[in-house]
Amino acid sequence: RRWGFGLAGELRQAAARDPGRLAVVDERDALTYRELLDRAERLARALRDTAGVRPGDRVGLLCRNSVGMIETLVAVTSLGADPVLINTGLSGHQLVAVARDQELRTLIHDDGFAPPDGVDGIGEASRAALIDKAPPGPLGPPEREGRTIVLTSGTTGVPKGALRRTPGGFGPLCSMIDRIPLRAGERVLIAAPLFHTWGYAGLQIALALRATVVLRRKFDPDDALAAMVRHECTALVAVPVMLQQLMEVAPAGTRPPLRVVAVSGSALPGGLATRFMDRYGDVLYNLYGSTEVSWASIATPADLRAAPNTAGRPPHGTRVAVLDAAGAPVPAGASGRLFVGNEMLFEGYTNGRSREVRDGLLATGDLGHLDAAGRVFVDGREDDMIVSGGENVFPSEVENLLADLPQVREVAVIGVDDAEYGSRLAAYLVLHPGGALTPDEVRDHVRGHRARFCVPRDVVFLPRLPRNATGKVLTRDLPRPPAPPS
Ligand code: ATP
Repeated sequence: RRWGFGLAGELRQAAARDPGRLAVVDERDALTYRELLDRAERLARALRDTAGVRPGDRVGLLCRNSVGMIETLVAVTSLGADPVLINTGLSGHQLVAVARDQELRTLIHDDGFAPPDGVDGIGEASRAALIDKAPPGPLGPPEREGRTIVLTSGTTGVPKGALRRTPGGFGPLCSMIDRIPLRAGERVLIAAPLFHTWGYAGLQIALALRATVVLRRKFDPDDALAAMVRHECTALVAVPVMLQQLMEVAPAGTRPPLRVVAVSGSALPGGLATRFMDRYGDVLYNLYGSTEVSWASIATPADLRAAPNTAGRPPHGTRVAVLDAAGAPVPAGASGRLFVGNEMLFEGYTNGRSREVRDGLLATGDLGHLDAAGRVFVDGREDDMIVSGGENVFPSEVENLLADLPQVREVAVIGVDDAEYGSRLAAYLVLHPGGALTPDEVRDHVRGHRARFCVPRDVVFLPRLPRNATGKVLTRDLPRPPAPPS
C-alpha cells in the first residue's frame, strides 16, 4: 500500500470503495467521494505545474471549514508538501510571526485574508481557476505523503507548529473511537474548526469511516441545527461552547437523528453535560487531548452521568499517568502532572522546541487526578494554578461550582497579583438574560462549599467572555480588576 493512512490515502480508498457517496457538503457545494478526489488531484497538478509547489514545501492554509479547504488539504498532502493549518482568528501580526516561524512558501487563503509579505498567496477565486485549468495527466503517488502541521491554540504564547503523525494503521485511529459507537457511512457535522487539532482529528476519522462530512464556514447554532436536520446528521463534532449555544436556541420541531455528539478542546462544564444529555439523550462523549497527544481519554455518556466533570478513561492503546514532581505515580484522588502515551503522539515541534517525555509518556502541561474507578479528571493547566496565601486553588474547581448557579451562563476564574496573598481569585461571570446576582451572593455560594481561600475577592460581570476560535477563554484578555484598597 503506497499511500499510507494519511488524508490523501484515506480519500483514495474511500473513492475506490464508495465513489458515489456524498463526501462533503457546505453552504455552497456538495461533492461525492469520486468528485472530491478528482478535484483534489486537479488542484494538486495545478499547484505542482503552475504554482511550483514541491514535496517538502510548507503550504499555509488560512481557511474556514468548507469543501474548498478539504480539497486543498488533500491536494497539498498528495504532492508530498506539508500543509500548515492556521487559525483564522490570528491577528495580522501573529500571521506574520507564524509565516516566518513555519517558513511558509505559499499561503492558500479564503477571501478576506491576505498573505504577509514574502509569501505567495492563492485566494479562493485563483484556487477555483487552478482547478478548472489544471493540466491533464495522472498525479501518481508522491515520494512521500505530506505531513500535516497543526498549530497549538497559542493559549500560553505563540502558537507552536506540531508535526502530526500519520496513523501507521487502523489500530491507532480505531483506538480513538473504540469507546464511541461510530459506524461506516456516518453523516457528521464537523463544527469544530478543521485548523484545530480536534476538528482535524474529526476529519481523519470521518474519511476513515467514509462518512459524509457537513461543514459550515461559521458556527451559528440555529444554522447548525437546521443543517443537521436537513442532512440527517447522526454525529456532531464540536467544542463545549457550541453545546452551550445549541442549548440556547429554541428546540426545533424536528430533531436531528444524533447518536454521537463528541466534544473536546477545552473543559466541558459538568452542568452543561447533564443539561445537554437531558435534552438530546445520552449521546455525549467528552474527549481530552491536545495538539501534541491527539487524544488521551474519552468519557462516555455513562461516565458523564456518573461523574459529570470527568474526561473519561484512556482508550485502548493509550496510557495516562498522574505523576508527582519527582516523577512517581500519585494515589487515586491526589492531583499531579498528567502524562500521556499512545501511537498518535506528535512527531515534534517544527521549530526546535521540545516537551518533557518520561518513559515514553509526554507531559501534557496539565494537572489532573484519577478517581477510584480510574476515570481521568483534568484540574487545569500547570501554569493556571493559583497559589493564594500559600494554598493551591484550581480555577476549574471554583468555575464548576459557580456554573451550578442557575443565573450563570459562563464563568472564568483567574489569579490576579495581590500584595498581601501573592495572588487572589477573580471571578468573571456572564449571566443569562434576566439573571441577577450580587458579588456577595457569588462569594457566599463559594464560601458555602469550599475553603476560605477559594472565595473570589473580585467578582466582575461581563456581557461575554473573550474566547478563541475553539472556545477557550483568553484569560490574558480579561480586564484586570483594580487593586483593593489597602
Ligand atoms: P498552547 O500549547 O499554544 O498554549 P493549547 O495547549 O491551548 O495551546 P491545544 O492543543 O488546542 O492548545 O489545547 C489542549 C489543551 O486543552 C489540553 O492540554 C487541556 O488543557 C485542554 N483540554 C482539551 N480537551 C479537554 C477536555 N476534554 N477537558 C479539559 N481540558 C481539555
